[in-house]
Amino acid sequence: MIVTGGSRGLGLALVRALLADGWRVSTCARSPTAEVEDLVARHGDRFLFQVAQVGDAGQVTAFVDAAAAWAGGLYGLVNNAGIAREGILATLPQVEIDTLIQTNLNGAIQAARAALRHLLRRPATAIPAGGRIINISSIIGQRGYTGLAAYAATKAGMDGMTRALAREVGRRGITVNSVAPGYLETEMSSTLSAGQRDQIIRRTPLGRLGTAEDVVPVVRFLLGPSAAYITGQTLVVDGGISC
Ligand code: NDP
Repeated sequence: MIVTGGSRGLGLALVRALLADGWRVSTCARSPTAEVEDLVARHGDRFLFQVAQVGDAGQVTAFVDAAAAWAGGLYGLVNNAGIAREGILATLPQVEIDTLIQTNLNGAIQAARAALRHLLRRPATAIPAGGRIINISSIIGQRGYTGLAAYAATKAGMDGMTRALAREVGRRGITVNSVAPGYLETEMSSTLSAGQRDQIIRRTPLGRLGTAEDVVPVVRFLLGPSAAYITGQTLVVDGGISC
């Protein structure tokens, strides 16, 4: 199982959950963290970390190929690596827009392309059969948010890729879905001001920001056998803020 961007936040929580479920798990990030080094020390036989920048097609392809070779095949990819850049579009520097698109959208496309070369090679007798691709998008891609136009475009793009790819590979038993979280308590949301946090909490029916642990069970479900007939969908996990 591959989770991109598993060095902290949601990706790290997913890595831990999948290791607990008994999978061989590979992840990448631009640099390791203490948590990743601890996992290598404790689970080195089932956990692989590689420095790779998902925005670089060569690096992400090499990482996916290395992960599949190390694990003796590939069953699932979770496209989780992502960045956020805030600023109104009229003044957001072009370099920030390019980095967002390259990392969030092109990174997910390239990782999916690389993963498909392995998923499509899985023998029909493999257990579990088929394969899974899960894209971590965002409700921002569906609802928009002032100051996040370019980020929203990348996340809406991931949802579009999900629907199209589901059609391309469904006959091969490979499902492709998105999970769209609302605001999560991770490093990414640490730049929210106290006022923004209060406003989000007031607008959220469940009255709090989400956590990685709120999203992990949904990804687990989509990776598991109970979700075998679900594809091309975006599952929203946002405490109701978008309802
Ligand atoms: P974090 O910033 O906490 O973690 C992001 C992870 O992605 C890190 O491991 C980071 O490692 C890695 N990463 C970032 N850029 C790259 C890159 N170019 N190549 C490889 N790895 C990279 O984010 P979250 O855990 O909060 O977010 C995870 C996903 O969930 C993202 O796709 C995000 O857009 C989405 N999301 C988050 C929400 C939130 O409120 N936090 C809400 C909705 C969706 P490193 O920096 O070392 O590369």
